[in-house]
Amino acid sequence: MIVKSAEFICSNTQISKLPLPLKPEYAFIGRSNVGKSSLINMLTEKKGLAKTSQTPGKTQLINHFLINDTWYIVDLPGYGYAKISKSKKEDWNKFIRSYLDKRESLQTVFVLIDSRLEPQKIDVEFCNWLGEKGLSFVLAFTKADKQSAVKTDQNIAKFRKALLASFEEVPPFFITSSENHIGRDEILGFISQVNQN
Ligand code: GDP
Repeated sequence: MIVKSAEFICSNTQISKLPLPLKPEYAFIGRSNVGKSSLINMLTEKKGLAKTSQTPGKTQLINHFLINDTWYIVDLPGYGYAKISKSKKEDWNKFIRSYLDKRESLQTVFVLIDSRLEPQKIDVEFCNWLGEKGLSFVLAFTKADKQSAVKTDQNIAKFRKALLASFEEVPPFFITSSENHIGRDEILGFISQVNQN
């Protein structure tokens, strides 16, 4: 898929103010600092589209970006930032989980995982929750340029194994690096296929 246009549409703190669910949506989510904004900017080839390195856990916004006038990338707030208060974490839970659970135009959730790390409990639990809700998701392992391909493959294998405790089949996954554009064609190709179905 060629990205001809990528346009910021809106930031929301309330589900009731989201754009009408008339176009397919692909949500991107992961732990704070996982590389989500960088990945969105890499996919769209627009450097400042998603704001990188914001203070984690600050504002809980759902950002909609319209791609080629036909589908949305939805940038969801990061989870797992240790320093935010318990009540903020609960707010996050309510807000994001209700978006994910109720959004009828949501096609697939991209769960971003830092490829440098061994499986993190919070990521595995989040995937389990998506599975329980019957939501379609895929994994995107980020920052693959930061270590050897062997190390990346080992961490992916461990993550897939951790998921197999709850899933019969693990979802598709993508290896990505926003630094050197790894995974771009694969992710856009996947979205293009889902959009056609
Ligand atoms: P977010 O909080 O998940 O949106 O993460 P950001 O996109 O702001 O990235 C967090 C940090 O990781 C920034 O310093 C990025 O430059 C860096 N980063 C993100 N993606 C990559 C990547 O693919 N490779 C490398 N080397 N650094 C990355």
